[in-house]
Amino acid sequence: MNHFDLAIIGAGPAGTTTALALHDSGLSVALIDKDDFPRDKICGDALSPDVVNQLGTLALDTDKAFSSFKEKIWCNAVRFVSPNYQFADLKLNSKNLTGYVSPRVDFDDFMFKQAIKSNAVVPFTGSKVLSLNRSDIGVEVILESQIVITAKIVLGADGAHSAVARAFSDETVDKNHHCAGLRQYFENVSGFSEDNAVELHFYDELLPGYFWIFPLPGNRANIGLGMLSSYVAKRKPNLKKLLKDIIENHPNVKDRFKDAKALEDITGFGLPLGSKKRAISGDRYLLLGDAASLINPLSGEGIGNAIRSGRVAADHIRNAAKKNRFDADFNLVYDKEIYRRMWGELRLNYWIQIAMRNKRLCNVIVKYAIGNKFIQRLVLSGFSANQFKPKFLRN
Ligand SMILES: Cc1cc2nc3c(=O)[nH]c(=O)nc-3n(C[C@H](O)[C@H](O)[C@H](O)COP(=O)(O)OP(=O)(O)OC[C@H]3O[C@@H](n4cnc5c(N)ncnc54)[C@H](O)[C@@H]3O)c2cc1C
Repeated sequence: MNHFDLAIIGAGPAGTTTALALHDSGLSVALIDKDDFPRDKICGDALSPDVVNQLGTLALDTDKAFSSFKEKIWCNAVRFVSPNYQFADLKLNSKNLTGYVSPRVDFDDFMFKQAIKSNAVVPFTGSKVLSLNRSDIGVEVILESQIVITAKIVLGADGAHSAVARAFSDETVDKNHHCAGLRQYFENVSGFSEDNAVELHFYDELLPGYFWIFPLPGNRANIGLGMLSSYVAKRKPNLKKLLKDIIENHPNVKDRFKDAKALEDITGFGLPLGSKKRAISGDRYLLLGDAASLINPLSGEGIGNAIRSGRVAADHIRNAAKKNRFDADFNLVYDKEIYRRMWGELRLNYWIQIAMRNKRLCNVIVKYAIGNKFIQRLVLSGFSANQFKPKFLRN
């Protein structure tokens, strides 16, 4: 029998951050993932300055290790393209803090290796969690490999299809606060800006959603689109065909793909958006990152909040262990702290997302963003490092 103080299920950004933040806590940690690393994760691969800034708060010199981590390309702007093809390039920020784009197969492997540097963290990878049983003394986690792990509390950092949320929470997918996403890697896409901007194209046929073109290291690019799931359910568009059509025929982008080559088939995955408050803890469990639905509803960026939730969860677990309290009442403090830090920004970005569902408003927002620093800072709040956000949005 493997007994631990804490079992973290999911070794993506949320789970590895928690493990890193607890490396010196004296607690024993099982870090469980269904896949062996390196493994792919369908994503746009953009790491905002918010992510880079938070890496600087993590143990074991994570920021220094990230500086020498090669599989990334810098990016210093976000380009918003409106339905009438006007665009605003919003500079991410200055002071040596930039964003990056890094394939998740590499970035998540980097985070995983950092997390398991500590002797306190024991990895169990390559076998998924099949079932979870709660009792008054702890939680039993049963893996497909038949390994049984017990812990005082489990952290559900297991993404959009969280086994922990399924087992313990009553919350269900709400299509008004959920997005369908597609990704396809290409090589040799042309026309990136000098700032290596990540580009969000808000075309009429995609609202409320967007098509993206993000640069990647090695002359590759991450291409994809996302659309609100309630609209997908209502209009039933063929999203794969829509993506292919844009790449091949859209007057604003097709020339950039004329010498490009697809490196994979189109793949899809869901984005649980943080535009609605949910219960994210209970007796002997917390939910983090995508399992807690914390993705920015405007940009689709979720890595920053996954990392932030990992840091908040680690602080909470230290207190819980000190007091020997793992019950739902005590864990409510975690929910409050998550929403105290994130709700202002999530809510604001939700309002902008609603406004941008309307083609005319979308044109107006992009037009005014071109020259207005305040609008730029609001629109970029989901991407920016804390010190560059308007004060009321800092988290
Ligand atoms: C198409 C798309 C584009 C996106 N683009 C961006 C972007 O450019 N920038 C950005 O910041 N965010 C983006 N996101 C969001 C981002 O991918 C997520 O917010 C982020 O990965 C959340 O991290 P996490 O650690 O919570 O979960 P995940 O990264 O999903 O990690 C969860 C882990 O849990 C494991 N797991 C799942 N189930 C089990 C189980 N039963 N047993 C054991 N292990 C399990 C998985 O293998 C995985 O390793 C995008 C998402 C999508 C779908």
